[in-house]
Amino acid sequence: MRNIIEPQPLDPDELWQILERRDPSFDGQFFFGVVTTGVYCRPSCACRRPLRKNVRFFREAQDAERAGLRPCLRCHPLAAIGQDPDSGRIRQVCEYIRAHAQEPLTLADMAAQAGLSRFHFQRTFKAIMGVTPRQFAEACRLDVLKVELRQQRSVTDAIFEAGFGSLSRVYEKVDTRLGMTPAEYRSGGDDVPISYVSVGSALGRMMIGATDRGLCFVQFAGSDAALLAQLRAEYPRARVQPMAEPYPEQFAAWMQALEQHVRGQQPRLDLPLDLRATAFQMKVWQYLQSIPYGSVQSYAEVAQGLGHPTAARAVARACATNRVALVIPCHRVIRGTGEMGGYRWGVERKRTLLDQERAAARGVAR
Ligand SMILES: [Zn+2]
Repeated sequence: MRNIIEPQPLDPDELWQILERRDPSFDGQFFFGVVTTGVYCRPSCACRRPLRKNVRFFREAQDAERAGLRPCLRCHPLAAIGQDPDSGRIRQVCEYIRAHAQEPLTLADMAAQAGLSRFHFQRTFKAIMGVTPRQFAEACRLDVLKVELRQQRSVTDAIFEAGFGSLSRVYEKVDTRLGMTPAEYRSGGDDVPISYVSVGSALGRMMIGATDRGLCFVQFAGSDAALLAQLRAEYPRARVQPMAEPYPEQFAAWMQALEQHVRGQQPRLDLPLDLRATAFQMKVWQYLQSIPYGSVQSYAEVAQGLGHPTAARAVARACATNRVALVIPCHRVIRGTGEMGGYRWGVERKRTLLDQERAAARGVAR
């Protein structure tokens, strides 16, 4: 480790405090490496803070690399200085997968497109996109499938047209992605049972709705009646019913996680979702889930991150149609000017959430 260069004009104590605050305004200005893991990060990285004695500070990314450290796959330190070759590559592969959604793509094909080894490709893709290459390819295929289904083709034809090899495979996949089987989807999702509960929260009444596969509704309003109206408007043909007590164990656990999250006590929400969405919405929503607790991005940054730099408006629309507040943290997207921007459940709630996240993130670091 003889090549490690401590930045002279900067005080290590000061730098350490910036790490503890996960202050994103210092991203790109310096980097920190962890000698025990061999990885270097940007100051705002959401990773658990290492022991201070294992941390080294670097002025430049090259210095970290010269010291034998690799860029973190979680925070992509090189992207902070616009030099992340991986995110550009992955963006191109996404375009390729979308264009070839109806063909059987192997992981080897996709990795070759990226010019990366299979292992490195898989890891990098997941780190940047939040889903595996296979999941992404399936979402693209599902998108084709949904268009076919709406055109009133037979379900079987549509499935083969969309590039799925066999019926059982698509049912398996559709189960988790569309939340409904193709036949159900075609008929508009009649009769899907959704159970709901509403509770008081720091953000007003909160309603949680779920199918047997996951959460499909987390929203806020001033009253339970307004919430129920929102739920029915969102799922006009579903069979909506209050959750019977005692709540199923799984549902109770989801509720508890959400309640704690609203109180700032459980930063990480990793709950199963059951949502119907277009491939683009799905992509935006999954991307939003990768924005760390306590930080924000602009609509344009999200569009950029998705590889569609001109799609900032479409990103804003995808945020505005989010049906599961908090779990898909659309509140972490703000205007490029630093203004709050809109929020489906009122800008005051957005402000409250962001203030609380920042405060809690500081508290965790302390
Ligand atoms: Zn990192």
